[in-house]
Amino acid sequence: MTPLLRILRTRIAAEGPIPVADFMAESLLHPVHGYYATRDPLGAKGDFTTAPEISQMFGELIGLCLAQSWLDQGAPASFTLAELGPGRGTMMADILRATARVPGFHDAAGIYLVEASAPLRARQAEALAGHAPAWLDHAADLPDAPLWLVANEFFDALPIRQYVRNGAAWCERRVGLSDDGLQFGLAPPAPVSALTHRLDDTKDGDLVEHCPAAATIIQTIGQRIADHGGAALIADYGDWRSLGDTLQALQAHSPVDPLAAPGEADLTAHVDFEALARATPSAHARLTTQGVFLERLGITARAQQLAEALSGTVRESHIAAHRRLTHPSEMGTLFKLLGLFPQTAPPPPGLDA
Ligand code: SAH
Repeated sequence: MTPLLRILRTRIAAEGPIPVADFMAESLLHPVHGYYATRDPLGAKGDFTTAPEISQMFGELIGLCLAQSWLDQGAPASFTLAELGPGRGTMMADILRATARVPGFHDAAGIYLVEASAPLRARQAEALAGHAPAWLDHAADLPDAPLWLVANEFFDALPIRQYVRNGAAWCERRVGLSDDGLQFGLAPPAPVSALTHRLDDTKDGDLVEHCPAAATIIQTIGQRIADHGGAALIADYGDWRSLGDTLQALQAHSPVDPLAAPGEADLTAHVDFEALARATPSAHARLTTQGVFLERLGITARAQQLAEALSGTVRESHIAAHRRLTHPSEMGTLFKLLGLFPQTAPPPPGLDA
């Protein structure tokens, strides 16, 4: 039994079953035993890998997209360049390298990283030495200023609530006690105002997910962008509207039972991009697939250019990385790119339909 499983069992014995969101929040962010509090989970030796860790091309193209969007909006002399959940800091390092020759961009940028994990903050400080980033605990603390923001595989880590349809009401899925572990159960039906629009496309017994933290964060970001200018590029897996149970746990790159070893496995859920877009009525939202976005930004030309200097197995793994990021059977279609931008500004490159 993991230490966190013991703690959760004690809490549930005292309080009764807890929402899935509470289980997910404790598993990921418990200050002593939480998954992100205790490790760097990324890379081949970790539990999962991500687009910026697969190839430098991902962060480079995102960086050039941000810089073009900044130029398109008149190159404000001072702006916030922010990342949510920067992991090892790889994407921000690639963004900064790719934009080093964009006149004025670095001088105008104040770099902010929203990060909950102490071990990962340390990795980010190493990767970004020389750039003096500032760390924040919450997106709400971002300066009230023009904002260009990126987030890759951040929103999938935010705690979700799950509900099973029951007539015009919903039964919340909760985590309760089994003999020696944890098990799912359902609360009695109750109305849920955040799910009113889901009464149109669901039937009794369907499960839908709702991520209250995502809506709060996206409201802050959308408001900054609408008030002061800027753009957000949010990459993650999920669909325009999600249906069904997408909670998943990964350990050493393999799926495991989400309830079995809290604190030891990564927990994520698909991002419901429609819910993000609905939370920011004051900014434009546009969604495309990661594959299409990267192709529009010229990833194939960049891949060929990099390949010229490579040979042997390094060249082969570079070609495989290009395919992995863009191909529909790999990350190209499951992963999406949501762009937020002001009503009055052109969309960032790659999001122009
Ligand atoms: N963007 C990186 C890392 C993705 S993993 C990459 O693509 O490689 C998720 C990241 O979000 C980690 O850095 C994790 O510590 C951070 N994170 C998760 N939940 C968070 C929260 N509630 N607040 C701030 N950071 C969080």
